[in-house]
Amino acid sequence: MERLATDESSRQHQEIMNQADKQPGGAVDHARIEAAVREILAAVGEDPDREGLRETPARVARMYAELFGGLRQDAREHLQKCFTEKYDEIVLVKDISFNSMCEHHLLPFIGRAHVAYLPRGKVVGLSKIARVVEVVARRPQVQERMTESIADLMMSELDAKGVAVVIEASHSCMVIRGIRKPGSECVTSAMRGTFRDNLSTRSEVMTLIYGGRK
Ligand SMILES: [Zn+2]
Repeated sequence: MERLATDESSRQHQEIMNQADKQPGGAVDHARIEAAVREILAAVGEDPDREGLRETPARVARMYAELFGGLRQDAREHLQKCFTEKYDEIVLVKDISFNSMCEHHLLPFIGRAHVAYLPRGKVVGLSKIARVVEVVARRPQVQERMTESIADLMMSELDAKGVAVVIEASHSCMVIRGIRKPGSECVTSAMRGTFRDNLSTRSEVMTLIYGGRK
């Protein structure tokens, strides 16, 4: 099941990358976003030509190009440069702040990612782990898939003995609309390898992540 889900998401991503390659320069189609935003403004009863809104479609296009920039990047490239190291205990990078976009509402979800791995003879620069989170975050998605994508990328590229990813985020679509629950946080985790199979290793990483917190 899990394997299938991973293959499916990497296949989808490959398709997106292929489509991106077909566009001129692989760039975001700003004109198309601008036209769509004008349509939305008109549809909700606004006048897209009034002064305050005139620049909005172009601004939104630039913003989407930034927020969805991860669709045109391969997070794996940040995990290529590894160092041989005998260290074989948990490496954890905590509280990596990120913002992503919920694919159901195109509203942001904002939070922190904690990413741990158990090296098997090679380690990667700590800032690279934050880079991976950054690239994966800049795509439309659900938090569950984001969590699994990061875990699977780390697992396959680092040949790690285990990977643990925990993400905590607040979803704008739950805060400003629908059920309206400000302060609620969604927590997801993906455990691979030793973190999945060995309860004490899993407890150790959870204590490292949550230790000292109320
Ligand atoms: Zn949503």
